[in-house]
Formats: sequence, C-alpha cells, structure tokens
Amino acid sequence: MKENKIERIHSDSAMTCTLCMQEMEILYDHLAMSTEEIDLLDMPKRSFTVHFPVRMDSGRMKMFVGHRVQYNDARGPTKGGIRYHPDLTIEYLQDLAFLMSIKCALVDIPFGGAKGGIVTNTKELSRGELERVTRAYIREIADYIGPLKDIPAPDVYTDEQIMVWILDEFERIKREHTPSIVTGKPIELGGSQVRKYSTSLGGVYILEAAMKKLELDKSSLCVAIQGFGKVGLNAARILYENGFTICAVSDSSGGIFKEEGLDIMEVIDHKYKTGSVIDFPETRNITNEELLATDCEILIPAALSKQIKRENVNDIKAKIILELANAPVTMDASRILLDRSVIIVPDILANAGGVVVSYFEWIQNLSQDYWEEDKVLERLQQKMITAFDKVYEICMEQDCSMRRAALQFSVRRILYAERLRGNL
Ligand code: GLU
Repeated sequence: MKENKIERIHSDSAMTCTLCMQEMEILYDHLAMSTEEIDLLDMPKRSFTVHFPVRMDSGRMKMFVGHRVQYNDARGPTKGGIRYHPDLTIEYLQDLAFLMSIKCALVDIPFGGAKGGIVTNTKELSRGELERVTRAYIREIADYIGPLKDIPAPDVYTDEQIMVWILDEFERIKREHTPSIVTGKPIELGGSQVRKYSTSLGGVYILEAAMKKLELDKSSLCVAIQGFGKVGLNAARILYENGFTICAVSDSSGGIFKEEGLDIMEVIDHKYKTGSVIDFPETRNITNEELLATDCEILIPAALSKQIKRENVNDIKAKIILELANAPVTMDASRILLDRSVIIVPDILANAGGVVVSYFEWIQNLSQDYWEEDKVLERLQQKMITAFDKVYEICMEQDCSMRRAALQFSVRRILYAERLRGNL
C-alpha cells in the first residue's frame, strides 16, 4: 500500500496528490506511522461521481457531472464545500476533502472532511439553469448527505443562494424541515451571524496573532491580496478597517496597485458597479502574476490553488504568506520559500474560520437557539487562537514549518479517534 501511495505521489498524472501529499510523506516518516495508519489516511472513505441531465434555457437537455468525496469521518459527520468549476476532477476533490478532515481536526470541531462539486462554468449558465443544475445534483446525492452524515457548504463559485436551493431541494425530498443539512445559508433561513465573512475574519485573527509573535507593527506593512471574491474582498475590508495598508488587489480580470494604499471601500463600490477591480481611478492596472510579485510584506492568495509555484516562486517578495485559498502554494514552492525564511500560514489554519462558523451554524440549527453576533465572534476568535497557539508551540519545539506542525497535530487527533473506534 505504501508503495502505491509513493508511486501515486510521483506520478505525472493531472491534479493528483500535489497539494500536500509530499509533506504528508515526510510526516509519515517523522511520526513513525505504521502501515495501518498510513493506509487509513491514504484513501477517502467514500468518493463518487454522478451524471445527470438538465434542461437548458434553449430547450435542449445537457448532461452534467458532479462529485462528492467523504474523506474521513472518525471525528464526526463529514463536512465541506461544494464548488462549481470547469476543471474539477475527483482526484483534486479528494485532496481538498483530505485537507477538510485535517482542518476540522485542527480547530477541534466534531467533523470529518468532505468536498464536492459540479464540473461547470457558472458564468455560462443563466440563473434558472444554475438552479436546475444545483437541484438535480442534490437529487442525485440526497441519500448520501444529511445533518449527521455529510453537510455541504459554499466553496469556489457557490454562494448563499445555491445553499438555499440545496436546502429546499433536500427538504422537498425528505418532506421535513432540515436546516442543519447545509451551512452558509442566509440568516433568514437559519444561517449564522458572521458566516458571510468568517473565513476572512478567522484569517485576520491568525495573521494578527502571528504578527504579535513576530513583533511586527501593521502600520508599516504593505498587503497584497489575490482574489476579490467573498474571501479576498472581506479580508481586504477587515484589514483596511483594522488599519492595514492594502497596496494591491486583483480578481480574475486583473489587478490594481497603489503604493500609498487603496481606499478599499471605494474599490468594493467600483467592483460592484463594473464587475472588476481593474481601471480604478489613480491606480496602476497590473496582471495577476504582477500582483503575486508585488513589493509587499504580506501576500494573501485568496483565489484558487497552485498560484505560487516553482515557475514564479523566485518573484515573490513577501515575508508572510497567509493562505486564505485552499492550497495556493505548491509544495515545491513552499520548500523554496521556507529556505528563504518566508513564513507561510497554511490554509488549514488560515482559512478555517469558514468551517468553524459553519459548525456554529449547524449547532444553532440543531438546537434552534440562535446566537447574537458577539457570541459568534468571541467563539470564533477563541477557536482560531487556540489552534494558532498549538501550532506555534509545535513550531517552536520542533523548529518546523507551520504547515508541518498543523498537519502533525491534526493527523494525531484523527488517528486517536480511529484508535478509540477500534479501527487501528
Ligand atoms: N469551503 C470552505 C472551506 O474550504 C467551508 C467549508 C464548510 O464550511 O463546510 O473550508
């Protein structure tokens, strides 16, 4: 089994095992894990593909492909987002679902990890088509998800409205109200306070905790953010409101740069009006590649995976990288950056605020007791800082990267749960 895994890691096949599996290999040795333990973590518990026809606005039927991966459920029902993307593959979702298992264990919430999605470009679908595609996908997977089985949430190119269609379709099938089937809902339908911006806020809590340890003063630092969707936009807004200088932001059309700092509220207005951040007055338009190479202290990739890779790693000037996207830095690039003493705050810690407030949403739905904003903020901060302190302590003890410390801590937790269950 171990040989199979190593073969897989070194294979050239498209998206397989490129996110953090090389790091996991090192970890397996470092923790002296047994073959049984490695085998248990090596494969998803359940991983499936569905094909379904949907009527398009033209009147024609079109086939769609959807996937769902439920990676590990030793610590609780599986949990993870649903993403819509034309390049989605099941292998890639398996890596992301594995990261969700690790992330939930790290912030100590009682969930395993999952991820799913549909192979589609949402920009090419009308609103009606998007709704029909979403509902059809849920009809296909309804038997395999549930509040105590597997709970979806938003991810790349899915939003609150899509979560409502998921909720509504599931409730129609089951013929009962089940708000805890999905998180990331609007407040009116059982959503939680703060969930809309919790991924970004959790990342800011972690960034501020890291800066405190490093004795860095935010007023003298310049921040560049790649991605101006839900996560990047809210990170920019929160950092701006907290006194950080944001000198560059970008979206899929390109970016803007202003050395003295951008007025983020105005940029958000501009994005809503024009659909992009580019061509904002008194700034220089830049490409996404240029954004990554910006002369900044803090770089926040908040878009897609594998943005910082071997080919462009030498252009990176930032001293701290906060991974708000999932797996935005490849392992090759990570190693080179670590050799240059760049601090990488790993995705499993940096962006865990999203799933933490999803957990709060799920508790509120199950108990029908809805919390005030202050309670959510306080409990989110407590979860994030507890995880940060643990990771930092391991880094200091072992003189290792934050990613290795976080992976190690979570893997131990998952294996402990497996052992208690008698699976090891
Ligand atoms: N999609 C988010 C993530 O990758 C949130 C998942 C959730 O809330 O279940 O962490």
